[in-house]
Amino acid sequence: MSGVIKKLANAPDIYFIPFPTKTDEVYIDVYFRGGMYDEPKKDAGLTHTLEHYLWTMFGEKVNYSIETNAQVSGEASRFYIETTQHKAIAHMQAFFNSLFTPDFTNQDVFNRERLTIINELNTAFNDTEDRLHYIFRRTLFGEESPVARSFEEEVRNIKKFSLQTCARKHEELLSSGNIVIFIGAYLPSQKFLNEIVNLVKRYHFSVSPETNHKKLAVPKRLVKHATLAGRRGTYVYLVYPGYTLDDVPEKRIAQSIFSQTFTHISNSEVFKKLRERGIYSISYRNNMCRRFGLTMFFTHLETGKETEFVSIVRKGLKKIQKDGLNPERLKERIKQARQDIERRWKDNDKRYGDIIDDILNGHSAFTLNDSKKCLEKIDNNHMKKIAKEFFNEKNMNTLTIGARKPKLK
Ligand SMILES: [Zn+2]
Repeated sequence: MSGVIKKLANAPDIYFIPFPTKTDEVYIDVYFRGGMYDEPKKDAGLTHTLEHYLWTMFGEKVNYSIETNAQVSGEASRFYIETTQHKAIAHMQAFFNSLFTPDFTNQDVFNRERLTIINELNTAFNDTEDRLHYIFRRTLFGEESPVARSFEEEVRNIKKFSLQTCARKHEELLSSGNIVIFIGAYLPSQKFLNEIVNLVKRYHFSVSPETNHKKLAVPKRLVKHATLAGRRGTYVYLVYPGYTLDDVPEKRIAQSIFSQTFTHISNSEVFKKLRERGIYSISYRNNMCRRFGLTMFFTHLETGKETEFVSIVRKGLKKIQKDGLNPERLKERIKQARQDIERRWKDNDKRYGDIIDDILNGHSAFTLNDSKKCLEKIDNNHMKKIAKEFFNEKNMNTLTIGARKPKLK
């Protein structure tokens, strides 16, 4: 059996994701919906603290003999183990006990992990890319936004949290609507999958619906500069409201094909003009979660070239709204996208990860066939529509970060 994705239980939801390649490995992922963006200001850093505590308590219990890790993102906390079919049930028992009925009395582990997180935050604070990412978010959404919490604020909070605060957060997350469990394996027996469902049924979960990811408005036509001392030149971002993870995968695939084609070397017009002015390239990035989506073009420039860069990219986008993209390059990009998707679908880890993303973001699993069908529908008319819908002057924000404010004309 079990060659297809299956929902094994409701509330908490349990899904089985089949591996395409033979292996004895079994992956178990437990997600708590609720991450850093769900925290009120005074709790900034609490979900992260809880994640460290739960994970360390589990690690110590099994003496770190199992491949395991945990992460907190904006909208969820993830815990996972990798085990084998033979040992899975015993390992899961220990894992689920640690996550669903934890012991909140180990002050030593708690104190130590608080120091660990503060060290982790300080490392991020001093890392250029993390620092830029934070300044960018703060400039776009404002300092008070939960998506732009400062490192310093979190450090201050984490010093104050107690084990009781952590236990309170845990109780809040331990609800049937907010827990999703995934199992990845190659052709397991139905009996094995039933055993897992029975294991989970032993725990008590409070009944509450899924966390509501309230949409966050992305600003439009903002022109802002943030100072970053000790940097040469200027980081320039042209930022547009993009798709969110709630949007269907078809839309996201089409938009990413557009952006990749636009920024590619063979989009000769924009590229040639940038090169003539000694600008190396234009990069593209998507920032997506369920609350908001951003899509942006960016580069780093010497002082004085900012206006030229912005004007070349804007003109290039305008032209594409009218004439579309280079058809050869578009064809090539679609072909590459198909190959990438096929490769991911054949890979145990990647297929498992991609399907988890689909399900957590409120979709059904997007299969290889779904992707192929979607790619077949993409043509240049589609691309023109995307250029008009997204990369419209009316939506564009211009953010610059650097030692000195550039004169944008
Ligand atoms: Zn951490």
